[in-house]
Amino acid sequence: MTETTGKINLLGLTQPKLEAFFEELGEKRFRAGQVMKWIHHFGVDNFDDMTNVGKALRDKLKARAEIRGPEVVSEDISKDGTRKWVVRVASGSCVETVYIPQNGRGTLCVSSQAGCALDCSFCSTGKQGFNSDLTAAEIIGQVWIANKSFGTVPAKVDRAITNVVMMGMGEPLLNFDNVVDAMTLMMDDLGYGISKRKVTLSTSGVVPMIEKLGKVTDVALALSLHAPNDELRNQLVPLNKKYPLAVLLPACNNYIAGLGEKRYLTIEYTLLKDVNDQPEHARQMIELLRETPCKINLIPFNPFPHSGYERPSNNAIRRFQDLLHNAGYNVTVRTTRGEDIDAACGQLVGQVMDRTRRSERYIAVRQLAEEQVEITPSTNRR
Ligand code: SAH
Ligand code: SF4
Repeated sequence: MTETTGKINLLGLTQPKLEAFFEELGEKRFRAGQVMKWIHHFGVDNFDDMTNVGKALRDKLKARAEIRGPEVVSEDISKDGTRKWVVRVASGSCVETVYIPQNGRGTLCVSSQAGCALDCSFCSTGKQGFNSDLTAAEIIGQVWIANKSFGTVPAKVDRAITNVVMMGMGEPLLNFDNVVDAMTLMMDDLGYGISKRKVTLSTSGVVPMIEKLGKVTDVALALSLHAPNDELRNQLVPLNKKYPLAVLLPACNNYIAGLGEKRYLTIEYTLLKDVNDQPEHARQMIELLRETPCKINLIPFNPFPHSGYERPSNNAIRRFQDLLHNAGYNVTVRTTRGEDIDAACGQLVGQVMDRTRRSERYIAVRQLAEEQVEITPSTNRR
């Protein structure tokens, strides 16, 4: 339901929910499938375009319902083919969606919240504070908009988007129901028909929600680890104080075990110069992940203003990768894409109307720290 029109937005409804809607209207359930194909396969937002739906029902639908994606504020295309959309959601904030074409795949990075309450120390989204959860329509709407922009209809046949990662703005597990509904639509054949192995939810580690996730879906899981011990992880990912590694890793292992054969946890590890990129950290990680079927994805830090962190040298990145690789792990280094349009991991800022006022506090504190550094140049800047 959107606040402005009082009409039900059909964009975010899963098949069972849309069937229930049609039953309530006194219509047959099979109408749900017809309408879903129009919405998701053909990108239609006007009931009159639904040629296999009779006029009387179309009129009924127009009176009660709508198909409304978030408003597109801008669309940028990078010279490497990466695309970025800024979309405005109902709360008034803007979030970002990024499309990354690579090696025959097209990965869409989708946002789940406007801002984020979790405040990881190296993440620009976290520094924006938190404004709102996105609705299921606003989450799947990002896929709908991207898909339409490629003109690939029907979406299932000529695919531009082969993979979706919930790695945009926000912590998806803190907007559980809407994210699960949107991911269900991504995988549904009446939606985007993407395989469960190619829809990935990335979390900083909300343990009870990882357990809950395993009961309702079987998407791929990525864990934002970033540190191999609690002391360091408490500093980088404050949520670790609530759910430390001793409970987090077993929760992830259980989730992966529930998926069955040949499924892996993706470990994301943002490399921060002199903070978590030392050989000792690699060695601790090798021990920590012994029991976890995983692939490791190293993300060299993407800088943003006043972050206080730096990207390690290529040599340091290679050294870290080699240590893990030599211990038998499958390790990739994420290449930075779409830098010219600020579309890289951790650079997504949107335009969050911060309800927590964290962004103001953050900027004030960083400015103060930088002024002090100027006065005493010998101070260690980290
Ligand atoms: N909130 C979720 C998903 C969004 S962030 C999560 O934390 O997993 C997607 C990934 O980008 C996470 O692994 C996050 O830690 C990483 N990231 C955030 N800021 C970054 C930066 N400045 N440079 C590189 N990676 C960053
Ligand atoms: Fe939120 Fe993820 Fe950024 Fe942490 S890394 S602040 S959980 S978006």
